[in-house]
Amino acid sequence: MELVFATNNLNKLKEVQEMLSDSIKILSLKDINCFDEVDETETTLEGNATLKADYITQKFGYNCFADDTGLEVESLDGKPGVYSARFAGEPANAENNMQKLLSELEGKTNRKAQFRTVISLHLENKHFLFEGICKGEILTEKQGEKGFGYDPIFKPEGFNESFATMSSEEKNKISHRGLAIQKLVEFLTHYK
Ligand code: IMP
Repeated sequence: MELVFATNNLNKLKEVQEMLSDSIKILSLKDINCFDEVDETETTLEGNATLKADYITQKFGYNCFADDTGLEVESLDGKPGVYSARFAGEPANAENNMQKLLSELEGKTNRKAQFRTVISLHLENKHFLFEGICKGEILTEKQGEKGFGYDPIFKPEGFNESFATMSSEEKNKISHRGLAIQKLVEFLTHYK
């Protein structure tokens, strides 16, 4: 079976392919000659992930899945959520996003947050959703140099340090995206 992962991120693609048997071949957008930018115009992670997967199926005819992730902060009523990439405005900038979040949390004692990834799969005219959640808290200052996005200020539950101090292998085992991918892989492995 061939399945498109609607992403341009080769690390994400490799991570999924490595977890699947050879009977499922994951294709990138480049592999199918898709260079379109799909605007994420929905107001939920589920909506945006489905929008991207459906676009590929409708235009290119492939079975496809897509992901969308947001950082949901409890004391900010789930913000920045679906708007995490551009929290501090356009163009997307991780440093500005972190500074904005740190300043919005100044003086707040509840710093609980979670990363949530939704994967939407469009397979043989059916839709399936997979969710991965990683709970944790927002630190008061940056820590670590690895990773991307909000990693330096997010400390996962049960750990003493931020995501940005972990290797990608360590992070993938407990991360929102890693957990959502595990559920997708489990589903595909048993799909007839
Ligand atoms: P995307 O849906 O994977 O593009 O994620 C949307 C935004 O959420 C990114 O631009 C980052 O700001 C943030 N984000 C997603 N996953 C992570 C992560 O694992 N660590 C830190 N930030 C993340």
